[in-house]
Amino acid sequence: MITTTGLEKVYTSRGREVSALRGVDLHVREGEVYGVVGTSGAGKSTLIRCVNMLERPTAGTVTVDGVELTALAGSEARAGRELRAARRRIGMVFQHFNLLASRTVQQNVELPLEITGLDRTGRRRRAAELLDLVGLADKARSYPNQLSGGQKQRVGIARALAGDPKVLLSDEATSALDPETTRSVLELLRTLNQELGLTVLLITHEMDVIKSVCDSAALMRDGRIVESGTLTDLLATGGSQLARELFPLPESGTAGPAGTVLEITFQGDSSGQPFISQLARTYQIDINILGAAVETVAGRQVGRMRVQLPGSHQDNVVPIGYLREQGLQVDVLTHETTGALA
Ligand code: ADP
Ligand code: MG
Repeated sequence: MITTTGLEKVYTSRGREVSALRGVDLHVREGEVYGVVGTSGAGKSTLIRCVNMLERPTAGTVTVDGVELTALAGSEARAGRELRAARRRIGMVFQHFNLLASRTVQQNVELPLEITGLDRTGRRRRAAELLDLVGLADKARSYPNQLSGGQKQRVGIARALAGDPKVLLSDEATSALDPETTRSVLELLRTLNQELGLTVLLITHEMDVIKSVCDSAALMRDGRIVESGTLTDLLATGGSQLARELFPLPESGTAGPAGTVLEITFQGDSSGQPFISQLARTYQIDINILGAAVETVAGRQVGRMRVQLPGSHQDNVVPIGYLREQGLQVDVLTHETTGALA
């Protein structure tokens, strides 16, 4: 639904060049909620602004719903007719809502419809439908300053949906909101995704947002995507930084001085426990369990366990192979990754 290839963006400010995107290949499938995380300055906002051509990329292509936007004429200020039409199929939600203070909630939602030339009755009907959809039917005549942050963002979402988009882009839509409001706005996005089949690309710096609503995620650093995939695949990828941040293992227990520390990840119903006792029996080794946790990520149960086996990594090649044959994800922690543990 959204594809970028070799996307590059160079800003020039006060004679200095800043490379905000350095070759981004993004692929968001139809109907999924896709999250992009990364520290401030990683290029997340630039990426999302290039996806709807609010920012024209320096190089590379952007294709949304089969239309290559980078092949169409114009930029933010002077978009050609085709680009304007394509952009109408892309809704955008902003961190600071961007509502007009002098207009009522209903008039804010009607704004994009005025530009499309829909008549007054049609606009009013559509705005009422949208406000109903986001749970604000009773606020149509209120002004933005009479609303809570969460309500303002719901208006922002209703307005983004006015053009009947197939894609919704969200740049930190919940970062100005408290945790409870964040949860309800995320639930709304999830509902819209499921009920309208809307594809959602969202930017966030909060791992919890990824964990609770996303099907897939990408990690950006320095203008590049350094990891990406479905959450399920990421969790099954050895050494994945996203997986580790999505599901950190609490420190507990201490590893002895000699030994090999493993982190074992398992998904679905399979519990780690039987594998551990089987391993102990089969190879007659004492296994020290250092920590374990179970969490729900993308609606699936995921478990992670940190254990220590006696002997060096070399000594444990066979037991590690045994665990991997059981379909478990096994990471061998080196002295660097365990830090104080070692
Ligand atoms: P993020 O959203 O991940 O925090 P941004 O996409 O906003 O990152 O910024 C990426 C880099 O591009 C940063 O170094 C930022 O300073 C720079 N940048 C962003 N917008 C502009 C701009 N309009 N002019 C010049 N530099 C910019
Ligand atoms: Mg940003």
